[in-house]
Amino acid sequence: MKHVLLLAGTAEARCLAGRLWDMPGIALTGSLAGTTRDAHPVAVQTRHGGFGGAMGLAAYLRRNRVAALIDATHPFAAQMPWNAAEAAQAAGIPRLRLLRPAWPMRQGWLQVPDLAKAAQAIPAGGRVFLTTGRRFLEPFLARPDLRVVIRSIDPAGPLPPHCHAIQGRPSDSYAAEFAVMCAYGITHLVTKNSGGKPAKLDAAEALSAQVIVLPRPPQPDGPQVANVSEAVDWLHRTVGFGS
Ligand code: NAP
Repeated sequence: MKHVLLLAGTAEARCLAGRLWDMPGIALTGSLAGTTRDAHPVAVQTRHGGFGGAMGLAAYLRRNRVAALIDATHPFAAQMPWNAAEAAQAAGIPRLRLLRPAWPMRQGWLQVPDLAKAAQAIPAGGRVFLTTGRRFLEPFLARPDLRVVIRSIDPAGPLPPHCHAIQGRPSDSYAAEFAVMCAYGITHLVTKNSGGKPAKLDAAEALSAQVIVLPRPPQPDGPQVANVSEAVDWLHRTVGFGS
């Protein structure tokens, strides 16, 4: 039996767990950071919380005789992919990065390096749909000349009067994204380039709202695949299935 550790926190990780939970010869453990209060469950035995950096993760891999590591964390998880790469090397095991493709930039979109630059790009009176999560909001909290609708999975915390919180996840439905942006008269959408279903981007374009995109953080070198099927193939080639 080969023990495989899956760094989760994405839809792809959940789907991969769904493909592997009963695979002969594979014992899969999921891992969630434990920072999202209402995280979707992963369909395998799952641990919660950090490992204590790359060396903590390397110690976990050795102690639990992990044969392969699959990093299916979010494209904007800036630290964990580097910890995974360093830990897998230290433990001498193969590692795969499962990373959904980024959205190709479309005509008229604006790419900015961070939220401070995003806020600077929006003129007074703008009605902003901010979908980058509940962290690092300061540049928008400091702009009372804007109306800012902040969508986040966990509550955003206390906000000034010009900001309005919506608790929820992005929707795959164009109609749902169109409805929410329409309801607030959104003129600007600020989003990470997370990839996946482009429902909110299509809705923003239909409303002639300016799309402002944050680029992804860099990734460590090493084997990388774009979808769950390729990850299953990699695992098959790398550790094999069967008892
Ligand atoms: P991060 O900056 O890469 O990670 C910060 C720390 O959280 C890591 O150093 C690690 O702690 C711990 N960690 C992260 N992912 C973990 C996992 N799957 N299992 C165990 N520990 C984990 O990531 P983040 O931006 O804080 O995101 C945290 C989690 O939320 C990630 O798993 C990511 O997939 C998910 N997520 C992130 C975003 C986003 O936009 N950033 C969006 C959706 C989901 P130690 O160093 O102590 O091991």
